[in-house]
Amino acid sequence: MSTARVLTIALDDQFARAVPELAVPWHAEPAPEPTLLVLNEPLATGLGLEVDQLRGPDGLGLLTGTLVPPDARPVAQAYAGHQFGGFSPRLGDGRALLLGELRDRDGRVRDLHLKGSGRTPFARGGDGLAAVGPMLREYVVSEAMHALGIPTTRALAVVATGRGVRRETVLPGAVLARVASSHLRVGSFQFVAAQGDVELTRRLADLAIERHYPEAATADAPYLALYDAVVAAQARLVAQWMLVGFVHGVLNTDNVTISGETIDYGPCAFMEAFDPATVYSSIDESGRYAYGNQPGITQWNLARLAEALLPLLGDDQDGAVEAATASLSAFGHHYNAAWLSGIRAKLGLPADLDDEVAAPLVEDLVALMRAGRVDLTTFYRALGRAARGDAEPVRGLVLDLADLDAWLERWRALGPDADAMDRVNPVYLPRNHLVEEALAAATGGDLGPVERLLEAVRSPYDERPGLEAYAAPAPDDFGAGYQTFCGT
Ligand code: AMP
Ligand code: MG
Repeated sequence: MSTARVLTIALDDQFARAVPELAVPWHAEPAPEPTLLVLNEPLATGLGLEVDQLRGPDGLGLLTGTLVPPDARPVAQAYAGHQFGGFSPRLGDGRALLLGELRDRDGRVRDLHLKGSGRTPFARGGDGLAAVGPMLREYVVSEAMHALGIPTTRALAVVATGRGVRRETVLPGAVLARVASSHLRVGSFQFVAAQGDVELTRRLADLAIERHYPEAATADAPYLALYDAVVAAQARLVAQWMLVGFVHGVLNTDNVTISGETIDYGPCAFMEAFDPATVYSSIDESGRYAYGNQPGITQWNLARLAEALLPLLGDDQDGAVEAATASLSAFGHHYNAAWLSGIRAKLGLPADLDDEVAAPLVEDLVALMRAGRVDLTTFYRALGRAARGDAEPVRGLVLDLADLDAWLERWRALGPDADAMDRVNPVYLPRNHLVEEALAAATGGDLGPVERLLEAVRSPYDERPGLEAYAAPAPDDFGAGYQTFCGT
């Protein structure tokens, strides 16, 4: 690792100072031939970074971790995690580094983090590397999520390293530079709890409060207020996933943030035919992380967070358990409220409509969508046309027309607002077949399809001529058995 002479970026080491026990000073492996594949210019500018500088040799050094500012102290972060239900006390950044924190133009602290930058002491059997395809998948899908208004880590750049990565075949390697409001995870708390060090747990919780929930610091019970805030943020997050049909794929506790941002886009995908049992990850054999299980699994993950925080939640064990249980039971309330308010907006329902009227209408609609295995995205946009008087597009999507017509009549009687619907129902998502096509082209050296897909999904609500292919579900031969692989 060398230090930059030209780069003027100031990187803090707040995490490493606050919880050195969770920060292993480390460095990136050299990138033999770095080539910038994509750079998120608006994000870079928002972070106060110079786009021209990032495109130059010093910038590529920063984006691969091989040339860091003099004061930077890159670290691999330690965390634990429940993976598919089983607890691993020591996971950590096996192929990632936290370069440090910076302040964006709005004064917010942001982690600058790399993925695919080489083996670390947490690498276990892994090679520490990442391939171009999966890093571009994270770039495209996280940009789409951001454009949809769903909290997420952001992708700053993908740089090809010039190094081959051995998977089923040898693939071109890459490093993803990622920005997040932090990389604190449920698994970070599980790591410190497993050490039995209450003082360290308290320091980590204080950091989480400072970074994400400063109002908790002045609450009567700050750590319970922190937990309440995480429960609410995660409930809102998973409700937003459900509204757009997003399946995360690997909802292990190490992939659940304290901030409430979506993190770690591995075998994730957007559901096409509506079915709660939808699973895309090839390693999720039991369907633990199926679309319909995501709220329940998130609540389960939050129960693991409560266990880790327990020594901070009350004076005695029984009182702490009681307090945590009450907090966690609010998950359902937060989730239902976020989901109902989201779906009311998607249906263009008037703001003053009673939930008692809206809720059964929504329930019946979900039953219709499920029976018809409809494509959510197409369906909601077609409903917008129905709100304008043309029900034929939506009638073309379901088999049971009598049920649909009866439902449409009830809904239209409420005066749905079609323009408002179009502002919240996306036309363009990174559909699985489009992502696969674009990643295959990029792996072969053609970035055109990735760039065009990004352009479509960055303005998801604004229907534009010429982009019809980005709005259509997968062709039949793409197959219902679509899977993404964890060979990420
Ligand atoms: P993920 O499935 O990406 O959330 O990763 C789960 C754990 O495996 C984390 O501790 C990662 O750092 C680690 N990991 C995943 N891929 C690799 C790799 N190629 N080399 C080293 N560690 C890895
Ligand atoms: Mg992860």
